[in-house]
This record gives sequence, structure tokens and C-alpha cells, in this order.
Amino acid sequence: VLLTGLFTKVSNKKHKDQENQVNVEEHVETEIVDGVAGLIGNTPLMKIKSLSDATGCLVLGKAEFLNPGGSSKDRVALNMIQTAEEQGILKPHTGSTVFEGTVGSTGISIAMIARAKGYKAWIVMPDDQAVEKYQLLEKLGATVEKVRPVSIVDKKQFVNLARERAANFSHGEAYGYFADQFENEANFQAHYTLTGPEVYRQTGGKIDALVLGAGTGGTLSGITCYLKERVNNLKVFLADPQGSGLFNKVKYNVMYSPTEQEGNRRRHQVDTVVEGIGINRLTQNFEKGRRYIDDAFRVTDEEAIKMSRYLVREDGLFVGSSSAVNCVAAYRTAKQLGPGHVIVTLLNDSGQRHLTKFWSDEYLKAQDIYFELKPEETVHDFV
Ligand code: PMP
Repeated sequence: VLLTGLFTKVSNKKHKDQENQVNVEEHVETEIVDGVAGLIGNTPLMKIKSLSDATGCLVLGKAEFLNPGGSSKDRVALNMIQTAEEQGILKPHTGSTVFEGTVGSTGISIAMIARAKGYKAWIVMPDDQAVEKYQLLEKLGATVEKVRPVSIVDKKQFVNLARERAANFSHGEAYGYFADQFENEANFQAHYTLTGPEVYRQTGGKIDALVLGAGTGGTLSGITCYLKERVNNLKVFLADPQGSGLFNKVKYNVMYSPTEQEGNRRRHQVDTVVEGIGINRLTQNFEKGRRYIDDAFRVTDEEAIKMSRYLVREDGLFVGSSSAVNCVAAYRTAKQLGPGHVIVTLLNDSGQRHLTKFWSDEYLKAQDIYFELKPEETVHDFV
């Protein structure tokens, strides 16, 4: 009876239990989600005790690492694919394929949602990434195309290649869809319609500052636009890793400071161990929210690495590099605003995605960017 009842509820069909003639739907209250897509979003907003105690503020991190694909990108992948379906571009089980050029979490989220919805995924990425990433994508059934890393203006750059593959892919009913997270408005919309409202609800609208890094900028713009329209005096701070051009754009309205421009020979590459945030161009998704950004914080690799180790030591919180950058900037924001303020940031993914790079002391030593968090060091010492 119970299982019949659960099934009935999930499939939303009126159904009488045959043997007992009991309408189980009236008797069984269920809380069931529909497949992996049903696990996405509604992530908890957690108090980060160490940073709250250290500043006298309430420092809150939205636990996006709890999404089924392991990051906030699940929301984006789901909304990009759903939007393409609504526009009649994608039809399930037709051999249609979602193409994306990505080094990170978006590929994993796309591979997962594509499987769940009856599509194929084709992910183009540079060949210098952590081996677990390729393996995970392949286990999720995606085709992984590895290419040599080149500048973003090169035709053979992975995002450009993904666009080209999609354009050239057409087999009868099967359509090649270039997801294009950097420019696709469905990325912004995922956060404007879901993540933003969740933060608003979870804080009761009592929030003084939002602190976020930006890769595509979809998260920052989406949440920012939603909250700025509703919360008076909300301050928004960009958390930018070293080597990224966004900090200077926000502070001085130039993409590079003269020294950075000279020093950055590869120009489009962001020179940091942090993955997922920091970029040297302006995307449409970032531009949607830029006017609302009040100020920016530059976060060094040293600060991010030490913060990640500190959060484990103090809170048992094991996060990835972009979350660590966000937390450094959230701490700075708290110090700047003073005690008694509510500060929200995002914990984008778990440290498990970063075991062989950001979380590997051996890797960091080999790169000459190893920074040890000494037992006596507190956040006041290293930020
Ligand atoms: N953190 C991680 C781990 C990510 O993969 C990304 C996406 N590149 C971000 C943060 C930044 O999100 P957004 O692209 O929305 O700016």
C-alpha cells in the first residue's frame, strides 16, 4: 500500500489501491523528488562559525556543493537544457547532443542532466586538467574531447571548438546544441529565479552584504539582480582571485592595471591556482549585474589556500578553491562593515573536486605556491 501510494504521488495520477480499495493518496503524505533534477537547488544556508565568531557578523555560506552534480552548475545545466526544450530546440531521445567547452563543473552537470533527460553530451576541454574530471565525465556517459590549451581568441580554443562542433552537428532529427554558459541568459535566469529567491527566503530578506566570485558571472548577476530589487542598502562585493581582470574593471573601470597588462603575457589566461572563478574578459552574464557591484576584493592564492585549510581545522568544512576565495572576501567584508551584519557567500563545490591540485600539498609545492597554515595562525593573521 505504501509503495503504491508513493508511486501515485510521484506520478501525480489518481489511483485507487486495488486490493484494499483505499485511496492511499489521502493517507500517505510523501516528500519525494523526481529524479536527479529534483535534487537540484534548495541548498541550505549555513552559518560559518569560525568566520562569524572572528568578526562578530553572521557569515553565511550557501551549501551549493550539496547539489547532486556537486556544484551550483547543476542549476545552470538544468535551466539551459530546459530552456532549449521549451524553445523546441532539443527533443529527448532523438540523438540530440549538448555541446559545451568547459574545464569545470558545468560539464559534469551537463553530462548528468543530459543522461537524465535523454540527450548526449559532448564536452570539449583542455588536456591539462585533473584526470578525475575526464573520468567522471566519461562515467556519466559524456564524450570527452581533449585539446591542447590555447588562447581564447584561437579557433582551436575549447569553447570555440565546442561551438563549431555543435554548428556542424546535424543528423536528421538530432540537433547539436551549444550550451554556451558564458553568454546564455538561461544561466543568469537559473540564479535569478531560484538561487536569489532561496537566499532571500532563507535570510528573511535581512542581509547586508552579498560576496561572490565570478566565472561566467551568472551566479553573481542572477542573485545580485534579484536581491538588489528587494533589499534596501544591500552591498555587493566581487571576490576576485589573483590574475583576474574583473577586480580592476569594478574598481577602476579598466580590465587590466598597467602592471598586470605588461606582466600577463598570455593575457587571457588567469594566473591562479583557483578554479572556476576569475576571467579576463567581460561576459554577457557578468554584464547583467555589473552595475550593482559596489566594490571588489582581490584574493591571493596564499589567502585562498590558507582559508581552505582553516575552514577544515575550525569548522570541519571541506570546500574547493572558489569557495575559499569567497570566504576570504566575506571575512574582509565583515571586517569592513563591522560587527552585527549579515553576510552571504556561496560554497560552490567541495574540496573533493580539487584533491590533486588545490588540495594537494605536493602539487602546490611543485608549483612553488605551497603555503602552510601554522597551528597558531588564525584568520586575522593570514587575511
Ligand atoms: N565556483 C566553481 C567551482 C565553478 O565551477 C564556477 C563556475 N565556473 C563558479 C564558482 C562561478 O560561477 P559563475 O560561472 O556563475 O560565475
